[in-house]
Amino acid sequence: KSKWDRKRMDELEQWVAYHRLQASEGKCASYIPALRRADPTHLGICIIEPSGHKITAGEWDVPFTLQSISKVVSFIAACCHHGISYVLDRVDVEPTGDAFNSIIRLEMHKPGKPFNPMINAGAITVSSLLPGDTPKQKLDYLYAIFQKITSSAPVVNEEVFVSEWMTSHRNRALSHYLKDTGYLDCEVEEALEVYLKQCSIEVNTEQIALIGLILALDGYHPLRGEQIFPKQVVRLAKALMLTCGMYDASGKFAAYVGLPAKSGVSGGIMTLVPPILKRESPFPDGCGIGIFGPAIDSCGNSVAGVSLLKQIAHEWDVS
Ligand code: GLN
Repeated sequence: KSKWDRKRMDELEQWVAYHRLQASEGKCASYIPALRRADPTHLGICIIEPSGHKITAGEWDVPFTLQSISKVVSFIAACCHHGISYVLDRVDVEPTGDAFNSIIRLEMHKPGKPFNPMINAGAITVSSLLPGDTPKQKLDYLYAIFQKITSSAPVVNEEVFVSEWMTSHRNRALSHYLKDTGYLDCEVEEALEVYLKQCSIEVNTEQIALIGLILALDGYHPLRGEQIFPKQVVRLAKALMLTCGMYDASGKFAAYVGLPAKSGVSGGIMTLVPPILKRESPFPDGCGIGIFGPAIDSCGNSVAGVSLLKQIAHEWDVS
């Protein structure tokens, strides 16, 4: 039974109202029109417990694109299909401390193996590994996994995809480098299409909270009553979220919030609280948390989202 009461929901509303003001320290991503148009004052949150009980505040149902949060789902998908060791032969599990789209370490780390699947080089490699001979087949595999989680077919925001595609020079450069070093399992343009379409899937905070919830429960989908991913794969994904999920701010986030999380450049943050044996915890059975706040900092993380999560972790004593 949920331990949520009116008092706690009012508290959450107040925090959202307060942290929304912090957003002025960030800016919406501006490299494509759809992201530039987002309202920087938006801040929304959805928390889902294993019972399906949902707590929301602020602009929780405003749609946004998954962007880098998709990297967690594609990594899980590739591991489910190939097994963990096949995937880890092609992408490492080390944090970099560099920007998400950094090129520099690819050549430093001979023979060019990407450092982790949460940065672009690793994520593009993972997208190329999805099963199928064409981008469509690879995407269908990913969409089916997404649908298993959310019970609805994912919708790609075509406008976002097209502008990502036309402006993706750095990702194209990364992909060519990966192709040269042998880490790409398909053609450059095919890997890019898969990667950029998965980034352009439209969601709201409820859907990413649901993904978080399933990760909190080590791959068990409580609403379906079914283990949908192997426990080991999900634990690995969470370790990567904790160490690399917030880009080059992952260390600080682990220190001050202490929850596995993945952010995206559109301002989404997917995070979770694992089940904890503390009677006074508001979510002893664990929960998934989805946040949307499009004004981001220089690392690419939602400013208001991170500051709201700091308060939640502190006040509700989760870490
Ligand atoms: N589409 C963006 C990119 O690949 C997504 C990255 C992100 O969310 N940080 O550059």
